Amino acid sequence: MKLPSSRDYGNTGALLRDLDLNTVCQSARCPNKWECFSRSVATFLVLGRECTRNCAFCNISPGRQLPPDPDEPRRVAEGAARLGLKHVVITSVTRDDLPDGGAEHFALCIRLVKGRMPDCTVEVLIPDFQGDAAALETVLAARPDVLNHNVETVPRLYASVRPQANYAQSLDVLRRTAAYKGEDSRGIPAKSGLMVGLGETDEELRAVIRDLRDAGCTMITVGQYMRPSRLHPPVQRYMPPEDFDALAEYGRSMGVPKMFCAPLVRSSYHAAELVGGNKNV
Ligand code: SF4
Ligand code: SF4
Repeated sequence: MKLPSSRDYGNTGALLRDLDLNTVCQSARCPNKWECFSRSVATFLVLGRECTRNCAFCNISPGRQLPPDPDEPRRVAEGAARLGLKHVVITSVTRDDLPDGGAEHFALCIRLVKGRMPDCTVEVLIPDFQGDAAALETVLAARPDVLNHNVETVPRLYASVRPQANYAQSLDVLRRTAAYKGEDSRGIPAKSGLMVGLGETDEELRAVIRDLRDAGCTMITVGQYMRPSRLHPPVQRYMPPEDFDALAEYGRSMGVPKMFCAPLVRSSYHAAELVGGNKNV
């Protein structure tokens, strides 16, 4: 990785501290933090710093849950405006302890960002809300420009990698999103992503791409799993860049219009370009 070379890197961190905002960039130890912060880009992590789940690959710890901070959506909108974002990505820890899983909090974030910056697009990367269709509808009714929900890995590895989740339930979130039509009859693109390097086979990866296509996903991201610490599962394989290219080509040949596959790709990596169609996808 290139270390930060611009003053914007420090400014981004200072702004986030000033507004007491969390980012997945920091909490998940994303390898792209140097690059993204230097471009004044960050992905907001709302609803707390600790999670009700304990996915093996993730650097975010399980822990004690606090009530949602009612002022956080305002600060997200403020942070997005001060960073000058054109495309705002908002994600959260999973809050299985809340009756709506935090759906209303997401909806408020979307509304306040759009209210503050009407020309800005908003992408939300949501949890599965334990399959609660009403919670999902709460988020969709706030009209995000992209609804992202990651399947993260192949179904065979869920028990060890993502034990509190359910592959079929995650596909259902995406299917419902792709089928959703608001009052204005406009749809909302469904996006998903997964990692390689956790022990999956190439055929299992391709099967997931087909499942996501069948669920209606029009954007798929695939990146290399990197062990956040020695306490996390070791990397089972490093996939060469040309194999990522081949997977992207496979997805396009299966009818997925936007495939973004490379070792350092993460759900929110260059998300603005992906949604705008400018990325080499
Ligand atoms: Fe943050 Fe996403 Fe960039 Fe990683 S890729 S640093 S999570 S904006
Ligand atoms: Fe990390 Fe999300 Fe799993 Fe929570 S649900 S441990 S935030 S990947």
